[in-house]
Amino acid sequence: MLDTGQEQFLCGGSTVAELAGEIDIATTEETYELLVSLLDDGCVIVDLSAVEFIDASGVNALVKAAREASLAHRHLTLAAPPRQLSRILDVLALHQILPTHPDVDTARSIHSRLQQGRGGHHTPPQVV
Ligand SMILES: [Zn+2]
Repeated sequence: MLDTGQEQFLCGGSTVAELAGEIDIATTEETYELLVSLLDDGCVIVDLSAVEFIDASGVNALVKAAREASLAHRHLTLAAPPRQLSRILDVLALHQILPTHPDVDTARSIHSRLQQGRGGHHTPPQVV
């Protein structure tokens, strides 16, 4: 079990990355590169509401990006995942690595609460 509660996060606001269409072997590298490049600017909320399909390589890209985020002390959260992806996250118990929120607004408000929490007592990432 990862002890994420002790990590320091460098929250400098969040960027919303909108993914769309199919995330599969053809687009997975591109998706990963995009997310990692956005981590340079701050925390990332991945808006998945327009994603129609995601396969195992797509999930792997999200997990890899989440690991990069953790190394960079950034938050990477998912918003509005398709039901198919939620199921995969459940089955693989990946919600700890990839916190998931029903929509971007919820992800933003939870993220800003995390930001306010920094400096004082740590607040573990919310898992919904
Ligand atoms: Zn953050």
